Amino acid sequence: SGVSVTEPSGERVKVVVRVRPPQGEETGGGCDVERSGRRLKLHRGTATQPFSEFDFDQVLDESAAQADVYNAAVKPIVEDVMAGYNGTIMAYGQTGAGKTFTLSSIQPDAIGMMPRAAAEVFNAVAADPLHEYAVFMSYIQIYMELIQDLLQPQNENMQIREGANGVFVEGVHETEVRSTEDCLRLLQMGDRNRVFAFTKLNAHSSRSHAIVMLTVIKRQRLADPDWPDAEALPVQRMKIGKLFLVDLAGSERLKKSRSTGLRATEARSINLSLTTLGMCINARADPTRPHVPFRDSKLTRLLQEALGGNAKTSLVIAVANAKEHVDESLQSLQFGSRAM
Ligand code: ADP
Ligand code: MG
Repeated sequence: SGVSVTEPSGERVKVVVRVRPPQGEETGGGCDVERSGRRLKLHRGTATQPFSEFDFDQVLDESAAQADVYNAAVKPIVEDVMAGYNGTIMAYGQTGAGKTFTLSSIQPDAIGMMPRAAAEVFNAVAADPLHEYAVFMSYIQIYMELIQDLLQPQNENMQIREGANGVFVEGVHETEVRSTEDCLRLLQMGDRNRVFAFTKLNAHSSRSHAIVMLTVIKRQRLADPDWPDAEALPVQRMKIGKLFLVDLAGSERLKKSRSTGLRATEARSINLSLTTLGMCINARADPTRPHVPFRDSKLTRLLQEALGGNAKTSLVIAVANAKEHVDESLQSLQFGSRAM
């Protein structure tokens, strides 16, 4: 095919932890971070000694702004996507830890990663007279191993296929977007469809993985003096970069005794996909591992190329600075730590 494939960068996953401030009735504390540091310490109750501590690429404390998260976890990836490579940003953590706020807040004073990435894409397009671009957005969710198109929600059992240009969701609706506002409109439409789908099922939207895909197609302008003849323009001059923004299902452990029926099936399915995701990411940190179980879940199958070590990946671990959540925070930090 004439499409550029991702070149190996051999990079490991970049792990950024974001601590959110306590909300409502929560008792603050439990997470100690040196301001804009790399180390996070967890402690219980009034104990001054931490019971666990971790080092990450970056740890952003509760005073961090969305722009700090963007610079740490997203900016270098968007630059790669503009150059024709793939990139992935994933948010992991228990429900309520701040994944959706971080990725897709549209509050004017706290715009999230998705609209920021879109704005950077369109700024780069406007600043580059040498190429012409087309940008497409799609928005899907994976719930109990079924892929639903959030922009065309009647498509609720789509299949993953592999073609010459890689892995794709068959029949996914790809809408051309020309501005950040276009992206915001689609994001809100998809979020409404997501809430509606879950209301019908009497379930909660934090139980699915939501994935925004931005595809940037770039080719040399015909006016380029090196290629004056449109017919002579070789297709290799076309580059495709894909950006995945993944809002993972809540990682909290459901109490086994209490979950039955739909909730139990849901929990098993989330557990399977997050465990498989962990194994695939860990395999990247240890390339000698013979078998990487990409095919064991829809999530990892779809992200296979992005997770395989040939493309940049940032993992944002969201934790709450609240004593009530220390055990879930520990589990999330362990997941992040193993990815490094
Ligand atoms: P999740 O998607 O992980 O379930 P949310 O992103 O919905 O969690 O966050 C839960 C609540 O906490 C929301 O009301 C959100 O606005 C708030 N919140 C999350 N992170 C922050 C933050 N860094 N600063 C202020 N409020 C936050
Ligand atoms: Mg959420």
